[in-house]
Amino acid sequence: MRAQFLPYNLPDLGEDEEAAVLETLRSHWISRGPQTDLFEQDLSAYLQGATVVALSSCTAGMHLALLALGIGPGDEVITTPYTFAASVNVIIHAGATPVLVDVEEDTANINMAQVEDALTERTKAILPVHYSGHPVDLSALNRLRDTYHLPIIEDAAHALASTYDGKKVGTFGNLTSFSFYATKNLTTGEGGALVVPDEDLAQKIRVLSLHGMSHHAWNRYGESGSWVYSVEAAGFKYNMTDIQASLGRVQLAKLTRMQAKRRWIAEQFHQAFRDLPVILPAQRTGVEHAWHLYPLRLQLSALRISRAEFVEALKARNIGASVHFIPIHWHPYYQERFHWQPGQFPVAERYFNGEVSLPLYPSMSEQDVDDVIAAVREILLSHLK
Ligand SMILES: *Cc1c(COP(=O)(O)O)cnc(C)c1O
Repeated sequence: MRAQFLPYNLPDLGEDEEAAVLETLRSHWISRGPQTDLFEQDLSAYLQGATVVALSSCTAGMHLALLALGIGPGDEVITTPYTFAASVNVIIHAGATPVLVDVEEDTANINMAQVEDALTERTKAILPVHYSGHPVDLSALNRLRDTYHLPIIEDAAHALASTYDGKKVGTFGNLTSFSFYATKNLTTGEGGALVVPDEDLAQKIRVLSLHGMSHHAWNRYGESGSWVYSVEAAGFKYNMTDIQASLGRVQLAKLTRMQAKRRWIAEQFHQAFRDLPVILPAQRTGVEHAWHLYPLRLQLSALRISRAEFVEALKARNIGASVHFIPIHWHPYYQERFHWQPGQFPVAERYFNGEVSLPLYPSMSEQDVDDVIAAVREILLSHLK
C-alpha cells in the first residue's frame, strides 16, 4: 500500500507560476491591470479570437451573463440537475426560475430532446453543463438556440480544452463561462472567464463586473488613467486580479501539455478497468474530452460493496476520491423552494448512485496512476457477487 495519501485533486503549480506571481507582486500592480488584459488576449487567441472577459469566478460569469441578457423575475432558465450548486444559484440570484431537465445515460449531460419538451413562453435561456469535460451535444443545442431564438449560457467549468466537431468549447457563438478554481484544468486559485459572442454585450458585462463603473475605470489610478468615472449600473465586484491573471498565463501556456497527461491517465484507467463491473466514462465520436473528472460508475448490482464503502476502502489504501454531483433536486433548499423531489430525474440519480471521481491530474506520477488502478481492482475484485 502507498505510504502517502494521494489527494483526489491537486493543482499543477511550479516555479514558473511562482516567478510570474512574484513578478506581479513586485510590479506593485496587483489588482486588475495589464496582466489581466494579457490573460484575456491569451485566452482569446486560444479560443480562435473569441471575446473574453476575465472575472473572479465561473459563477460570476454565469450571473453576469443572465443579467446582461436582461433575464429576471418571471423568466425561466432551463438547466440540469446533474451539476454544482452554482449553475442553479445564479439563476435564482438573477430573480428567474430554474427549470430542470434530466440528463443522458452515457454523458450525464442535459438531454436536448427533453429540453425541447420543457420550453415554455417564459423560457428565456438554456444553461447546459459540459459534465466532467465531455461536451454537450452542441449541434442539437445550437439548433434549439436558432429555432427558438434562445440565448445559451454554457457552464464550461469543466470544459476548457474540450472540443466538439474539431472546435473548442467556447467558440460556438454562445456565452460560455470557464472556471479557474483550484481544482479545475487551469487554475488561478479562484477565477473565471466569460466568452461573449457580441461586443456590446461584452461591454455591458465589463461594466457590470466592476461596480457598474464606465469602461477602463480599473485604470483610474494608473499613469494614463483619470480620476473621472461614471456609474452606469448597480454593478458587482467580479473582476479578476493581476495576481490571478499572471498565474493563469503560465497555466495556459502549459495547458496542452497538462491535457496530454490527463488524456494519458484516462487511457490507462480505461485499459485497466475494462473487465470490472463498472461503466467507463463515455467519449462519443467527434468530441475531445477534457478529462476534468474521471467519473467511474460502479455496477452496484454486481458488487457486495456500496459506493460509500468503496470510497472508504480507497481512503484506507491512501487514495482520495470524490463524487460529482449530488443531484440538485436532492438538496433541502431547492426541494423546499421549488418542490423538487427525489425520483423526479431518474437518469441523473442512477448516474449519481454509482459514480466515483478518481484522482486524475497532471502532477500524478506513473506510480500514482498504478496505485489507483491497483486499489480499484483489488477492492472491486474482492467484492464481486
Ligand atoms: C466549479 C464549478 C462551478 C463554479 O466555478 P467557480 O469558478 O468556483 O465559480 C460551476 N459549475 C460547475 C459545474 C463546476 O464544477
